[in-house]
Amino acid sequence: MPNTIRSADLRGFADTIVLGGGLVGSAVAYGLGALGQKVLVLDEGDVAYRASRGNFGLVWVQSKGAQLHEYARWTRSSAELWPGFAERLEHESGLSPNYHKAGGVHLCFSQGELEEQRAINHRMGNAHGGLDYGAKILGRAELEDLLPGLGPDVVGGNWSPNDGHANPLALLQALHRALQVRDGVYLPRAGAQAIKPENGIFTVHSKVGTFSAPSIVMAAGLGNRELGASIGMTVPVWPLKGQILVTEKAPPRLSMPTNFLRQTDEGSFLLGDSHEHSGFDTRSTSPVMADIAASAVRSFPYLADLRIIRGWGALRVMTSDGLPIYQQSQDHPGAFVANCHSGVTLAAAHALRLAPMIAQGALDRDVSAFTTERFSVH
Ligand SMILES: Cc1cc2nc3c(=O)[nH]c(=O)nc-3n(C[C@H](O)[C@H](O)[C@H](O)COP(=O)(O)OP(=O)(O)OC[C@H]3O[C@@H](n4cnc5c(N)ncnc54)[C@H](O)[C@@H]3O)c2cc1C
Repeated sequence: MPNTIRSADLRGFADTIVLGGGLVGSAVAYGLGALGQKVLVLDEGDVAYRASRGNFGLVWVQSKGAQLHEYARWTRSSAELWPGFAERLEHESGLSPNYHKAGGVHLCFSQGELEEQRAINHRMGNAHGGLDYGAKILGRAELEDLLPGLGPDVVGGNWSPNDGHANPLALLQALHRALQVRDGVYLPRAGAQAIKPENGIFTVHSKVGTFSAPSIVMAAGLGNRELGASIGMTVPVWPLKGQILVTEKAPPRLSMPTNFLRQTDEGSFLLGDSHEHSGFDTRSTSPVMADIAASAVRSFPYLADLRIIRGWGALRVMTSDGLPIYQQSQDHPGAFVANCHSGVTLAAAHALRLAPMIAQGALDRDVSAFTTERFSVH
């Protein structure tokens, strides 16, 4: 929606103001709208860091939460909600997020790597209350049946039927459209500059005007550090760069995504899985791009025939333990923070599980492991 709406028309409009219109904010806003709330999303613009517009599009369950069963369950529940969520979103917005629960494979190039994956499956299966994560180690012969054209260096992989992928840009657009269908308002180029809590009402000063509501959700990705601090909340998120390459389109060949390459509905292959500590620098770099291309060709030699047509770098929104942050302010109830580094995977949980908690004014125990209290020094 363009910025033609006069801010005066929206004064007092919202039950909740969501700060940040990336995948996290938009999924929460969509969920709140679906519960009948009037939602106003204030989004910064191209000047901000936006992981949601530069990510890989996996809905990935295997290995997520090997260190904490609450995270494994949360991720798994999102993957379970995804098929119905995708259908509903398409029905309401007229746009498909192109979700496919195709399964997914973590490719391994050595026996050591394969054993590491086996240990992860073991930990997740045993330690997490008998929940079946469905992941299975496949040797080379079995894997070749699933993924013809494997390179000779691939020794096997970890396969999970619960993994899948979606088009993250289509997902974001569908969430925005569905919110607007429910009379929610999305304002771009409307970065929040200050938040003033007073008598249970939050007044947000933004680049396009001043708005107030009894509840706010800070979902500004890396911008949450600053927004949170402005009302006394510590939000320890930091950037971790990933680079992605895109090939020209090709006939369908790869039936399911792997941990670092996938074929889109349009035919392009997306390649990439770099994890780089380079501050807020989003530039693509030749050595990393060369590594990504080499790993891709090592995995599937047929990719060597395709030209790379595009590449970019984007910043993940990371925490020190890799877990999400969901927190309500103790000093200012009604102010929530939402951050994670798997905003595609968790979109369904954010819309259908987190948003109802926010609407009720309390985060429940399913997400109690993800508060910022875990960062406190004891
Ligand atoms: C290379 C890469 C690959 C990835 N691959 C995957 C994957 O395969 N699967 C997966 O699940 N996840 C993946 N992710 C992670 C995923 O992209 C993020 O978890 C998700 O996009 C985070 O969404 P967000 O809304 O929190 O943040 P962002 O997308 O960064 O959005 C934040 C929004 O807040 C706005 N903003 C900033 N400051 C303000 C302010 N003051 N006021 C208002 N608005 C503000 C910005 O404009 C922006 O629109 C990947 C990320 C990267 C970088």
